[in-house]
Amino acid sequence: MLIVMKADATDRDIDGVLDVIDHLGYKAHPMPGATRTAIAITGNQTSVNPSHFENLPGVLEAVSVTKPYKLVTLDLRPDKTVVRVGEATIGGDELAIIAGPCAIESRTQAFAIASAVRRSGAKFFRGGAFKPRTSPYAFQGLGEEGLKILAEIRDVYGLKIVTEALDESGIDLVERYGDVIQIGARNMQNFSLLRRAGKSHLPVLLKRGLSATLDEWLLAAEYIMAEGNYKVVLCERGIRTFAQHTRNTLDLAAVPAAAHLSHLPILVDPSHGTGRNFMVIPLARAGIAVGADGLIIEVHDQPERALSDGAQALTLEQYEQMVNEVRAIHDVVQLAAVG
Ligand code: PEP
Ligand code: MN
Repeated sequence: MLIVMKADATDRDIDGVLDVIDHLGYKAHPMPGATRTAIAITGNQTSVNPSHFENLPGVLEAVSVTKPYKLVTLDLRPDKTVVRVGEATIGGDELAIIAGPCAIESRTQAFAIASAVRRSGAKFFRGGAFKPRTSPYAFQGLGEEGLKILAEIRDVYGLKIVTEALDESGIDLVERYGDVIQIGARNMQNFSLLRRAGKSHLPVLLKRGLSATLDEWLLAAEYIMAEGNYKVVLCERGIRTFAQHTRNTLDLAAVPAAAHLSHLPILVDPSHGTGRNFMVIPLARAGIAVGADGLIIEVHDQPERALSDGAQALTLEQYEQMVNEVRAIHDVVQLAAVG
């Protein structure tokens, strides 16, 4: 059930609705918007009777939600969510760029790349300290030592740190050293991890699973939001198909498809989405052209020596060129949206 408040509803009116929801033993999710506040109700096993709410002061309407998701939906929040990370934002007017290596390999490597990322004007630095590798014998990341390097980068360059948590204890560590929790494609339906992320105060970047449908992906976001963390960013990173010319098939139609259903910001990851250096810039351009709120991009100062995902890493020069190009495209997309 969704309770839509009148535009002139007071804080007291809203509190009155929250009290009734609490009294009924359900969970309330108030979402203030530009024109009105809506309050979603979860935790009900059977349908909620609208008559509990319809005559309360300040209530415009009580509508039952027929979609499987109640919190990610545009019905709850017609104005798009802007996820704030200090001064930096994901969603809204500013193009969000998250760039850095696949994995933190050393302090020297991470700092060389971070300085270029900073120079480009990007506000976010990425880098895995705990890596989900296909082979148990492949480089698994530096662990907490990698997170300490990331925290140093934050202090020195003022970049916000986006880094993956593979399990619940990983979230404790990202909360200590980072700014945004990345949930990787392989963990998109790790429901206990999603619930733990939902209890975090940090924003969550939720990658689409290797073969997840749009509904499965949105319901994974719903798991996080149902716990009370509304700072969720979706990320399209390519899915498994029969194609052999790319590592994954970057499903760019997922961007407008998700935006059609959800208020959450959406990023594109053309690095994992293609797996091949020469395709990353064209697909980065396309991702912004199709309406993504930003990019997450793998960059390396020496791609040929990278311990993971070297084949898809941009060089520092290529990265700089890409940023200029996608900024120009973003300006055009913004103008088109206004015009
Ligand atoms: C990554 O960002 O390095 C990564 C492992 O991503 P994904 O979960 O999309 O494969
Ligand atoms: Mn990677």
